Amino acid sequence: MLVFEFKAYGKKEQYHKIEEAIRTGQFVRNKCLRYWMDNRGVGKKELYRHCTQLRAQFHFAAELNSHACQAAVENAERAINRFYSNCKKKVAGKKGYPKFKKHSRSIEYKVSGWKLSECRKRIAFTDKKGIGLLKLKGSRDLHFYQIEQIKRVRIVRRSDGYYVQFCIDSPRIGLKASQLKNRAVGIDVGIKYFLADSDGGIVENPKFYRKSEKGLNRANRKKSKKFQKGKPQSNNYKKARNRYARKHLRVTRQREEFVKSVALRYIQSNDLVACEDLNVKNMVKNRKLSKSISDAGWSKFLMWLDYFGSVYGTKTVAVDPHNTSQNCSNCGKKVSKSLSTRTHICPHCGYVANRDTNAAINILKRAQNTAGHAEINAWGEMPSSLVGETLLGYGDSLNQESLPL
Ligand SMILES: [Zn+2]
Repeated sequence: MLVFEFKAYGKKEQYHKIEEAIRTGQFVRNKCLRYWMDNRGVGKKELYRHCTQLRAQFHFAAELNSHACQAAVENAERAINRFYSNCKKKVAGKKGYPKFKKHSRSIEYKVSGWKLSECRKRIAFTDKKGIGLLKLKGSRDLHFYQIEQIKRVRIVRRSDGYYVQFCIDSPRIGLKASQLKNRAVGIDVGIKYFLADSDGGIVENPKFYRKSEKGLNRANRKKSKKFQKGKPQSNNYKKARNRYARKHLRVTRQREEFVKSVALRYIQSNDLVACEDLNVKNMVKNRKLSKSISDAGWSKFLMWLDYFGSVYGTKTVAVDPHNTSQNCSNCGKKVSKSLSTRTHICPHCGYVANRDTNAAINILKRAQNTAGHAEINAWGEMPSSLVGETLLGYGDSLNQESLPL
């Protein structure tokens, strides 16, 4: 599944209509969730039936394309299934009980309710919401694909405008940089660096958030000053809020591009990439480290690693990181060290290495030991239609990908 994204241009009234479509999608999703909460145990079929009732009852729901309504139901269903599967797997901590959405940012159409123009630079939304014709701007060319290959069309609101995403059903066989056979690498993500690999390479942390922190805080203060308690907010407040959001968007995009390019590089030049099975969610709870960890964007990195891995046919293995930084990668004996000890010096065999390089080698070894019989694919359970959603949550383009066409 490929996801292409274009910026959409239209008139103000059209944007209002997009907003209304987004609100309707949210309404259908929330109503289905409510229905499930009140009638525990209802399945997909009942939810669809409920959606049909909603469309008969509310004229604004009937105005939205029926397949788009279905997509909203599927969205609710996904949330429910995720909750059930977390319960079944006995995930530690919160199980992610489905929540009502208040601020949806997107609406998804399936194969109907829209029409691409002859030049494929314009898209018309043809349902009764009346969004009409939007101009598309982007670096991708939709001419390479059949209309039937476009399985989903999504309109997404961001702080700098509206975007249209196309999910295209197209098998992708990526090309490796060269004929590298049996090249494997282990990756250790850290605080000091973004990551260290088992070949001794190190990728520095770019710290986008910290660099922009001053500007972000300034924009945030300006926004807060204009906030009026207990009153409807002024236009000046809304403008300031938007300026603040755009600054955040910029940082997010910088981080995304960085993480993506690093992941692609490792995937293209290896046949096996081993990484820690990090539970980033738990790690971020450590307040002192949390800013550095969120800033580093490891979970996004792991997701892209997995995505590119499937594109380029590179195996990605997540291993239990337990003791990987403590054990000696040369003789296997445990050498205890604190977080501040940056060099691994083994008293047993005399092996000396950078702490993180040593850990990366351990990760690689562990992966090679397990990859033979049991492959742990911690991030591979995402349905392909969701990959685009999660990966392009904020991102703007797939610039870093070299597309074989
Ligand atoms: Zn040793």
